[in-house]
This record gives sequence, structure tokens and C-alpha cells, in this order.
Amino acid sequence: MGPFPSPVHGHALMLDLSSKATRTRMFSSDGPASVLRPTPAGLWCPKGDFYIDPPRPVDRAVITHGHADHARAGHGAVLATPETLAIMSERYGADFAGRTQALKYGERLAVGGVEVSLAPAGHVLGSAQATVRQAGFTITASGDYKRRRDPTCAAFEPVPSDVFITEATFGLPVFRHPPDVQEIGRLLRSVRQFPERAHLVGAYALGKAQRVIRLLREAGYDETIYVHGALERLNRLYEHFGVDLGPLAPATGSKADFAGRIIIAPPSAIADRWSRRFPDPVTAFASGWMSVRARVRQRGVELPLILSDHADWDELTHTLTELSPLETWITHGRDDALRRWAELQGLTARALHLVGYEDEDDD
Ligand SMILES: [Zn+2]
Ligand SMILES: [Zn+2]
Repeated sequence: MGPFPSPVHGHALMLDLSSKATRTRMFSSDGPASVLRPTPAGLWCPKGDFYIDPPRPVDRAVITHGHADHARAGHGAVLATPETLAIMSERYGADFAGRTQALKYGERLAVGGVEVSLAPAGHVLGSAQATVRQAGFTITASGDYKRRRDPTCAAFEPVPSDVFITEATFGLPVFRHPPDVQEIGRLLRSVRQFPERAHLVGAYALGKAQRVIRLLREAGYDETIYVHGALERLNRLYEHFGVDLGPLAPATGSKADFAGRIIIAPPSAIADRWSRRFPDPVTAFASGWMSVRARVRQRGVELPLILSDHADWDELTHTLTELSPLETWITHGRDDALRRWAELQGLTARALHLVGYEDEDDD
């Protein structure tokens, strides 16, 4: 199987602005399965012969973003945003795929009778929704997404689609993430309250760590932030793509140096020996799951920070209302409540039960 062809610059086709009735006709005459269909190997486009975020190596893959459950090494050819390609190269080495091709947000590419484009998903740097168009019929696979502002990546862009494929990591009405400013404010208050203690913040290496740092900067914190070695390369990559993280330093030195300081580390490090080098650390963890008390206890977290890179219940339902697709497919997460909600709104929804997506960033 050959690589992906060259992108068509500019907008070759107009957005599909036909009425819902027209779209329904197209829908029933052709059907979404000829454009994109769920298979045991992942979401597959028969005409273009590629998979979106396949869990195992394939000839041709479109990758929505760099988290390990979506971006795997070993594909023959990978099509993704320049940022996602850079992230994959950083994490897996430059030879992570046979060939790679960058597709910028908004560019359109003809692939074997379908047209592929990528739109910002607001999840992490370079994250994209993948849209596949064929004969005026449009399917968009969101990948992971969120709707609230994130200073480290481009904001989610709604793409009018006949079928919208959504995640549902936080697809229950109990999940309503508080404003980021509020959570960062709690961290900064704790730092002021305990000047003799270090604050050790667990945050996933791709996305969450840089977002926490950037949010601290926006809140006016301009002290040096100390980082675990496992975050250094991705921090540099974010800075390369224009995300200013301010003064950072490796978390090495004597215990006393870290009194009143903030240290960011991957979640696994906050529970291990490594954390003993800091004076009486306040352990914090930045995750959407921190709204669940059992998880907070299970991880022994003293300062839970509810910061998620996934849409919460309101963001999910707002997105489905806004897009009002003919069909909603739910890839992974808590699909029952969202499906039921969609049906009550008169939307058609089905759960795909795709396997292999365990959220690295929020689990
Ligand atoms: Zn993700
Ligand atoms: Zn995911």
C-alpha cells in the first residue's frame, strides 16, 4: 500500500450546507458504512483504505493525537498534524512509522475516492478531529476532545457532519468539571498556606503537565517551576511550537531548596521513592478523575485538582446539540447515559464499543 498523496491546498470543496432532509436522502441511499465503519481493527475507511487511531499496526493510519492509546508505533504510513508527528517522533523515535505525512488543520487531502481533513479538537497540542467526506456525505471522528479554553492548544472547531463520532470518557451527568482558574487558584493558595512544604503535582507528560504550567503562568506565578526528567522533552517540544512555559528547572538539588516550590511530575512518580527528596510534600494530582473521592483516596492525593483534557457531561451534550448530526457514534467511555440522553433529544446514537482506548491522559 502506497503512502498518502499530496494535500490539496485551500478549500477545494464547499462545506456541506445542504438541508437535513437532503442529507437524510444521501444517508439512506449510500450509508455511512461505505465512508467509515467500525471493525475489530478500529475505524476503517474502505474507499481510502486507512484506519483512524488503530490499536494495532496497519498499512495506513490517520492519527488524531499523540496519546499512547491513539498513536501507536509501527504503522506503514501515518497521516497526522505536524505537531502530532513531532510528538510521536519524540516518544517513539524518528522511525516510528514507515512514512509520515503532515496535514495541517483545514487542509484537504484526496485519499482513494474520499477526502480527509483535520480540525482542532482542543485536547492536547496538535490534537485533531478527522473528517472523511465522500459524495457530500461527512463523517467526523473527534478523537478525544474538550470545549473549554486550553492555552496550550488550538480550540475545538465544530465541523458540520452527518455522523459525529464522539468519545464519552466523562459521559455521566455527575461529571461537571469546575473552571480551571478555580483549581489552579486552590493550588496557589495551598503553596502560600504551607511555605515550608513542597507541592508535588502529578500530571500526565503529554498535555496536562504543560497545561498546568501554562495555567500557573496565566495566574501570575512567575517563579521557577521544577520538573521531573520525564517531562523535559515534551516541555521543550511545546515551547518549540510556541507555548511559553516560563522558567523551568530540573527537580534536582537538596531537600531544603524545594520548600514552598512547585514540582510537576508524571503521576507514577508522585507515589514512588523519587518523591522523598522533597520536604513534606503536599501531593496534588491534576485529572478529571479527581472529582471521584474513591480515586483521590486510592492514589493518596492530598490536593485533588479537577483538570481534565476531556469533555465533561455539559461539553459532550452541548457538542451534540450544536452539531445535531444525523447519527452520533460513541467510541469509548461511559456510553449508556450519553446514548440515552441523545435519544431523548431525538438524536440517533449508537455505541461502537471500540476496544483499546484507555485514556493515558485521564486514567
Ligand atoms: Zn487523549
Ligand atoms: Zn483517548
